[in-house]
Amino acid sequence: MTTLPSSVQTLIVGAGFAGLAAAATVLRDDPNADVLIIERADEVGGTWRDNTYPGCACDVPTSLYSFSFAPSAMWSHTFARQPEIYRYLNSVVDDTGLRQRLVTGCALLSAKWDAAHQTWQVQTSSGDLTAKVLVAATGALSTPKMPDVAGLNTFTGKVFHSATWDHDHDLTGERVAVVGTGASAVQFVPEIADRAAHPL
Ligand SMILES: Cc1cc2nc3c(=O)[nH]c(=O)nc-3n(C[C@H](O)[C@H](O)[C@H](O)COP(=O)(O)OP(=O)(O)OC[C@H]3O[C@@H](n4cnc5c(N)ncnc54)[C@H](O)[C@@H]3O)c2cc1C
Repeated sequence: MTTLPSSVQTLIVGAGFAGLAAAATVLRDDPNADVLIIERADEVGGTWRDNTYPGCACDVPTSLYSFSFAPSAMWSHTFARQPEIYRYLNSVVDDTGLRQRLVTGCALLSAKWDAAHQTWQVQTSSGDLTAKVLVAATGALSTPKMPDVAGLNTFTGKVFHSATWDHDHDLTGERVAVVGTGASAVQFVPEIADRAAHPL
């Protein structure tokens, strides 16, 4: 972990799979490269830090869903569970020295190209800096979106998004409506169905 410099050659925004891969690739090509990752959360991991819902797991073989520069023979499942992938990402950050090039708790607020100086003028929640190269690795799914369901604002029951699962809320005996039938629902519905009021 480092502090925010006033300038950097390559600034990578986001410390999920994409941002970490981008940083590692820049450093593979030039070990002395001036590269910095900023991450708005307090930890790396992106998708695999935020999604902790019951049954969260990789839906492709994890030996393929891992970095080519950091293969692992230690996956405990063909389709590894979220905690293991999260631990893997943290171990990669430690093993590759990326943690020294990382500023967490630092959100990109704006970036403006300064043509005269050929630099990006970057504003973050931790201060301003300039960068010659800006890599956006902020993820397509990193900000949970609640569905626009009529009446949701006045619904008095518990509401949460699968990406911000409320582990303190016990669903035992409750009538649970799941909005969405994608990969996340496919993983957590079987995990909660037996204790909800109306098992499938
Ligand atoms: C529940 C779930 C399961 C998935 N399972 C699979 C799977 O099995 N196989 C598969 O191929 N894909 C899967 N995906 C897709 C997955 O998102 C991608 O595979 C991959 O992890 C995305 O990595 P990323 O680095 O692009 O984005 P993310 O992992 O979303 O990382 C983006 C990072 O950028 C940070 N960030 C965002 N905005 C800012 C900002 N303004 N300033 C600073 N930091 C910022 C975020 O905090 C986050 O840490 C899954 C997605 C979800 C949500």
